[in-house]
Amino acid sequence: MRGLAELTNGFAGEIVLPGDPGYDAARVVWNGMIDRRPALIVRPTSTDDVAAAVRFATARELVVAVRGGGHSIPGLSTCDHGIVIDLSRMRGVHVDPGARTARVAGGALLWELDEAAQQHGLVCPVGVVSHTGVGGLTLGGGMGRLQRRFGLTIDNLLAVELVTADGCLARASDDEQPELFWGMRGAGPNFGIVTEFEFQLHPLDDTVTHGVVVHPVERAEALAERYRELVEEGSDGSWASFGVALALPADEYPPEVAGGPMVYTAVLHCGRAADAEHDLAPLRGLGGSAVRAIERKTYLTTQRLADEATSWGHRFSMRSAFLHSLPDDLVRAWVEQVDRIPEGASGGYSVWSCGRAIAAVPDGATAFTGREGQYWAAAEAQWDDPELDEACRAWGRAALADAQPYEVAGRYVNDVAEVEDELTRSIYGDAKYERLVALKREWDPDNVFRLNQNIRP
Ligand SMILES: Cc1cc2nc3c(=O)[nH]c(=O)nc-3n(C[C@H](O)[C@H](O)[C@H](O)COP(=O)(O)OP(=O)(O)OC[C@H]3O[C@@H](n4cnc5c(N)ncnc54)[C@H](O)[C@@H]3O)c2cc1C
Repeated sequence: MRGLAELTNGFAGEIVLPGDPGYDAARVVWNGMIDRRPALIVRPTSTDDVAAAVRFATARELVVAVRGGGHSIPGLSTCDHGIVIDLSRMRGVHVDPGARTARVAGGALLWELDEAAQQHGLVCPVGVVSHTGVGGLTLGGGMGRLQRRFGLTIDNLLAVELVTADGCLARASDDEQPELFWGMRGAGPNFGIVTEFEFQLHPLDDTVTHGVVVHPVERAEALAERYRELVEEGSDGSWASFGVALALPADEYPPEVAGGPMVYTAVLHCGRAADAEHDLAPLRGLGGSAVRAIERKTYLTTQRLADEATSWGHRFSMRSAFLHSLPDDLVRAWVEQVDRIPEGASGGYSVWSCGRAIAAVPDGATAFTGREGQYWAAAEAQWDDPELDEACRAWGRAALADAQPYEVAGRYVNDVAEVEDELTRSIYGDAKYERLVALKREWDPDNVFRLNQNIRP
């Protein structure tokens, strides 16, 4: 590439070009549907490297993709022809147990933060798949099994250090650049490349109560009723999901549900064992489950349980919404529609309990929008055969239509699988969107950071 010497001078990281032995491996991202060919991939090892890469790219008007953990569902961390600034060599977590804080490098993965914090009996609430990037997850919000107790990941974010569109360094917190800090918490990738996050941590015992109950789909409404009771009356320390899904791979399920539709509830209770017994009582009352596996296990074990089922390379699409309620009508509609997932694909509907610590933060405090939702609901499909792409995406687009009457304002930016201007506005609502536009004009007027759910300056 012409002019590359200007970057290589003093750049301590790695540069991978088309034709290099590692190029094809370096351009792979999590979603197997995404297949792009950047002009170069750089792997900085320091903030100075990141700044040099940004200046190099802007001087040449290269499209800039920023990659943390590579899990963006629409493939926003890679591009054709442009530059990928891949933060995978900027890893590491430093915990200050006295202050109960963690400094986390911009390219770290969730498992690094989980493990480093738990070494001191501490935790930061993050997502449920340990190979996800802290970067993208946090800058969009960060939902997970501890969210009712400790809030979203951004509700525990104290500060960020970032490289801005002009290649300079900035720090944002409640005291420094507070407006930028507001925007970073929900629309972050629009404003710069975060090289370091600082989080507040909380004490958490290493052992929690976790597991799942599975029932034949005929019990959908009965289980939904128990689930609602659990969510509405359970403590902040209890989190639960409810799902209508295909029981695949069939050999992992008992015969009464294998291969067909099933309903399930998964729980994590981070309180004492006796409190968990009490809070999870509604699930025992239903009886007759195909699977009932709720037990004490370490928090770190639970954080890796979904890793394999969500491994790299499969094709994936989803749509989600925040809901104020989960009525039986909706559950019935999902039971019908889960059967329409194209043959050869797996997937279904899942609902997570929200509220509590999430709702305790005022909606206006961060760019993230959707705190009023008592539930987050998603329709997800996963498949491997490219021939199924159109059918699976079409299923995903239509699958949540029945939930519309129960939606609250906002949408979770990290789940938006398509990139369309109108969708981006609906993530934040009109007022926040305009506030984000003003912020974008101040920090990135030329839209250098546009590979994200983009706020157009
Ligand atoms: C298997 C799987 C499980 C998931 N589970 C959860 C979950 O439990 N909870 C949840 O809330 N979300 C979850 N998500 C959604 C996830 O939060 C988003 O996909 C998120 O964008 C992933 O971040 P990443 O760094 O891995 O992705 P990337 O693809 O690397 O980045 C995503 C976006 O963030 C930007 N970005 C990444 N790092 C930085 C940085 N340091 N500075 C600036 N911009 C950056 C990228 O440019 C891109 O626009 C999951 C996604 C997948 C695929």
